[in-house]
Amino acid sequence: MTSPDRHADRAAVFDRDDRRCRHCAADGDDESVTLRAYPLDDDSANDAHESSLVTVCDDCYATLESVPEPTSMANDDLFRLVRDTTGVQSATISDIAAFASLATSLPDTLASAVDDGTDVDLDESIDEYRHTRRDVSLALDIVDARLERIAALESAADPDVQSSLAAFSDAATDLQSSLRRVVELGETVATGLDRCHGCFAALEDDPDACPTCGLAVRETADWRTDDGTLAFDRLFETINETLQEASTTTETLTDRTMTLAEQLTA
Ligand SMILES: [Zn+2]
Ligand SMILES: [Zn+2]
Repeated sequence: MTSPDRHADRAAVFDRDDRRCRHCAADGDDESVTLRAYPLDDDSANDAHESSLVTVCDDCYATLESVPEPTSMANDDLFRLVRDTTGVQSATISDIAAFASLATSLPDTLASAVDDGTDVDLDESIDEYRHTRRDVSLALDIVDARLERIAALESAADPDVQSSLAAFSDAATDLQSSLRRVVELGETVATGLDRCHGCFAALEDDPDACPTCGLAVRETADWRTDDGTLAFDRLFETINETLQEASTTTETLTDRTMTLAEQLTA
């Protein structure tokens, strides 16, 4: 039996997100905009809990769901697509750094809420955790969809553009994996605090899946010390190292984008 919780109320998801697309901010009260609930974690969209659903407009939904066909594109348009994609990706880097900093502050926030008996700061932090996590996951999915579109254009591009395009895609894909890793490590902080990394509900008795939202509980064995406690210091260190890696890859990506821009706008 599925608990009633699992059937998300789409209207509640749209209201929570102020009836706007969380990627492009299109206003759902505008007649030309249709809002959709996009599932971030679950492949079974019908069963997704609202903490895993995010409001997007029809256009952004189509970008996320479409499987690109290999086609050709005028150099100007290709340049715009590459530039817009790196634009979304750079904005995501700072959002992910903010998510990481929020996640690493959770153990202290949780401890001080217990100490002084007030939950106001904690509730705010939890809310921020949930929505920042959704926003960065959505942005990463959007960039993945755009990179797939760029990859589908590669074979039809001019031969000299092809290799620069491939080099660009490699660096952009590397950056995506570092950024996804930072999000995953940030989520591991929540799991280490016996909370669901999605909806932040308390997890008791080591379940495989969150009893509230159904999300599979993240594996933490790699981060346990000998006495079974979570090695937050080591986890935080790895988060910082991975962010550092992302910033090095960003430099490579910027160089490769410039090379590509010179060729496409020549
Ligand atoms: Zn949108
Ligand atoms: Zn959950």
